[in-house]
Amino acid sequence: MRLFTFLFLLLSISTFAQKTNKYDTFFEKGNGNQSASYPETIAYYKLLADDFPTIEMQKMGLTDSGEPLHMVIFNPEKQFDFGNIQKNKAVILLNNAIHAGEPDGIDASMQLFRDLALGKIKAPKNTVIVCIPVYNIGGALNRNSTSRANQDGPEIYGFRGNARNYDLNRDFIKSDTRNTKSFVEIFHKINADVFIDNHVSNGSDYQYKLTYIMTQHNKLGTVLGDFLNTEMMPALIQDLQKKNIENTPYVNAFQDTPDKGFGQFFESPRFATGYTSLFNTIGFVVETHMLKKYADRVKVTYEYMRSAIDFTDTNYKKIKQLRLKNEEQYQPKKSYTIKWEIDSTKTVPFSFLGYEASYKKSDVTSGNRLFYDRTKPFKKDIPYSKEFKSTKEIIIPKAYIIPKGFWPVIELLKSNTITYSQLKNDTIIEVESYRIADFKTTNSAYEGHYLHRNTSVTSKMEKVAFAKGDYIIPTQQKGIKYLLETLEPEAIDSFFNWNFFDTMLQQKEGYSDYVFEDSATHILKENPKLKAEFDLKKQSDVNFINNPEAQLDWIYKQSVYYEKAHLQYPVYRILK
Ligand SMILES: [Zn+2]
Repeated sequence: MRLFTFLFLLLSISTFAQKTNKYDTFFEKGNGNQSASYPETIAYYKLLADDFPTIEMQKMGLTDSGEPLHMVIFNPEKQFDFGNIQKNKAVILLNNAIHAGEPDGIDASMQLFRDLALGKIKAPKNTVIVCIPVYNIGGALNRNSTSRANQDGPEIYGFRGNARNYDLNRDFIKSDTRNTKSFVEIFHKINADVFIDNHVSNGSDYQYKLTYIMTQHNKLGTVLGDFLNTEMMPALIQDLQKKNIENTPYVNAFQDTPDKGFGQFFESPRFATGYTSLFNTIGFVVETHMLKKYADRVKVTYEYMRSAIDFTDTNYKKIKQLRLKNEEQYQPKKSYTIKWEIDSTKTVPFSFLGYEASYKKSDVTSGNRLFYDRTKPFKKDIPYSKEFKSTKEIIIPKAYIIPKGFWPVIELLKSNTITYSQLKNDTIIEVESYRIADFKTTNSAYEGHYLHRNTSVTSKMEKVAFAKGDYIIPTQQKGIKYLLETLEPEAIDSFFNWNFFDTMLQQKEGYSDYVFEDSATHILKENPKLKAEFDLKKQSDVNFINNPEAQLDWIYKQSVYYEKAHLQYPVYRILK
């Protein structure tokens, strides 16, 4: 009898051991400084999806690597149809390894899904959790141990650039990569209420393992932004502190040491959370500190996701209501901010846990070097700025019109679930039209582009002939902020700035001076008012007087021969 009991005990212990071992992650089985590869990650989620009816893994669109994105879903009610889920539950989307050299989220998310499935942590009642296990698959397959020169672990990790060397965290508007196109499909399919993008920080040294970016709240919109800034973020901070995890806003101090203070990171729409905020989704970036041990970083990433899930689950109704209310504040004839800057009058003290920093002579270069003294930790109030003010606004039109020929833009609008109608006949419509007045362009390649900035336009009302099939895009729709940020050329991440309309910047026709000389004489003779303007310019502009080519070109540009398309922005605004 005793022997039987002993054998039974032995058997149950070994069964238990097998059971726990079966679901240990690659990270847990290793030395704490090892991260799962892409195939190991997908194999692990397949195991979970096979064994637990609460987890499903779906194969989604392709990435540049040739491998498809996956999304893994946890729903304790074992239901995976998002049409139904969105009716009465919140959805959180977790994104990992957009920078594949920063893999903390990969390992933390595997643990999170396992713990939810096994009941090791309480499953949310009102929230469905969706995870992209590895977003930058091409980068994750390009494993190495050196490209994160300053980072303390893991031993092997992926590379920042994707299969075509794009930084995916700049691609959300221009959408050059298949990764982005597939992300956009997932994002709209699940209509995420809350989004978390997991990273590892660069930059200065301080005591924190965990730093975070909340999507800039003024830019997110008054309704949802106030809720994020005054309720959700403080609750997350408090919950993390209860778990003994000190945390700070992303230490956005790259020119100087953080003890002088810093401002909130501003994520324009090219960034993941900048993009998701255009659809009234509350976004966070987790940025663990590169100089902390990998195991500690995975742990705080895990806990941040848990705190966000817990808060969302308790407040799911409110979040869903506020998202709708936030959308309602953007309406035709109201103004919309397309440029922001830090409001330095609203700087507040923030109690910061840093290290004393000083400069000493470099052993390598002829200069001085910065160094942080870890034997001298401090806690002191530093100035922190998180309020932004509007510096440029536009009036929201009732609709935009885009000629059907600009299909790359139309395709992007469609993939972002923008609704539209098409003209049934050729039609003349009174519109506000923009001409490009000025812009600057980067001198070196940036993310596959020569990006424009400081764009300015002049505008006028005119009657324009549109063709059957041209697109009318009303602004009164869920994607209104996406429309305004992409179609207003002066907005920082507009399609114009990302080179979608560069063909309008080049003159296609011209003239030979010796032929146009005679035409110019005729034009001035026929048009005394123009001649008076020409004479005035010759008197008042020194450069003009000494430049016969510029004089002839000036007359050409005032004449009917000059093409209308040059510098004409081809997206038009219907105001009423
Ligand atoms: Zn990153």
